[in-house]
Amino acid sequence: MADQKEFREVAHSGGKVTISVKVDPAGQKRYQQKWEHCRPNAAALFAVYAVPPGLVLCQVNLGGIGSTQDQPPVPGSFQVFISSDSEGKFGRQCPVCGEYWRSDLGAHVCPYCGTQADVVAFLTIAQRSYVEQYCAKMIEALEVEVGGEYVIDMDAVADAADASVGEKPPFYYVELSQQNRFTCKACDGFNDILGTFGYCTVCGTRNDFQELSDKTIKPLRDRINAGGPYEACVRDAVAAFDSFVSQYVKQLIRHVPLTPARRNRLENGPFHNLQMVAKELKTTFDIDILDGLKPDDIEFGKLMFYRRHVYEHEGGEADEEYIAKSGDNTVKPKQALRETIESAHRVAATVLKLASNLHNGFHEMIPPLKGPIEEFRRYQEQIKKRHAGED
Ligand SMILES: [Zn+2]
Ligand SMILES: [Zn+2]
Repeated sequence: MADQKEFREVAHSGGKVTISVKVDPAGQKRYQQKWEHCRPNAAALFAVYAVPPGLVLCQVNLGGIGSTQDQPPVPGSFQVFISSDSEGKFGRQCPVCGEYWRSDLGAHVCPYCGTQADVVAFLTIAQRSYVEQYCAKMIEALEVEVGGEYVIDMDAVADAADASVGEKPPFYYVELSQQNRFTCKACDGFNDILGTFGYCTVCGTRNDFQELSDKTIKPLRDRINAGGPYEACVRDAVAAFDSFVSQYVKQLIRHVPLTPARRNRLENGPFHNLQMVAKELKTTFDIDILDGLKPDDIEFGKLMFYRRHVYEHEGGEADEEYIAKSGDNTVKPKQALRETIESAHRVAATVLKLASNLHNGFHEMIPPLKGPIEEFRRYQEQIKKRHAGED
């Protein structure tokens, strides 16, 4: 199990690139590049075409063993191998928001701002400077008169990550682990991002719903089953929905053109009142978070939003404002509100339903990438068929 510590340096995966230059009797130079890896850690690899001093043009289609490779897009461009860190992951950096994350080979979406681009656009500053040095090494290799072998020693780079003192070798860089390592449930893609919430870098599905369902509501249900206190469970469930809404609204504001007045209103949330949230999302974005909820579930949800306010700000004691707004006549002012195991479970279920409606409505407006999701679905079907065949 890899160390889960935040902001830990992850060494390069190592490996060696050998550039062999041959000069034929006519004086023509030919070169070959070979990438070797023999360290006991994970390693993945992709390649890009770059022109000196280090301008990256596009990704190379490395294909499988024996397959033919793409032709260079520009004469004189070099194929540059970029290998992963020692956990088989790649650092990425968004050209739009400038933020950093780690992922597997395929990365098409910035987890933070949702920008969609190809792998080349997401190269980090460190990887770009590595490409520059690689190009310099290629030029040096091609300048020789008699041919020879040139080695780019990434094993030395990997070793240098552990050494606290001493000069780092040329080509040196490390990656940095982030705060939330999650596997996307839509496409099975790996992500290691700053903070908790974001788009899956492979397919662009927001992770908020899986975070809410697995890391908030599931433990909350365990707390409810263990006896509560139920009031705190209700408070936490509604609070979690509140911050869930604000994540989606933040992204909608970023991606959907809005009038300044609307933008202001949305930016100045927070939405403590279910009717208000539902109305705002419906009128502005045509997202119906109440879709599929029965009228008494909606009434229940509204009441729980008011109750949450009492638990959070009034020490759990009803006041006149609460009674007037919620219409709850079962309590008098100063009376402490009480929840039951049933109301606590019901609020958990309601929050999940509301959240799932918002998540689906959001992705109708900002669709994820179908390719990786469909690929994963096909893979799951194959596994299912195989298991069925074994029975
Ligand atoms: Zn970004
Ligand atoms: Zn995904």
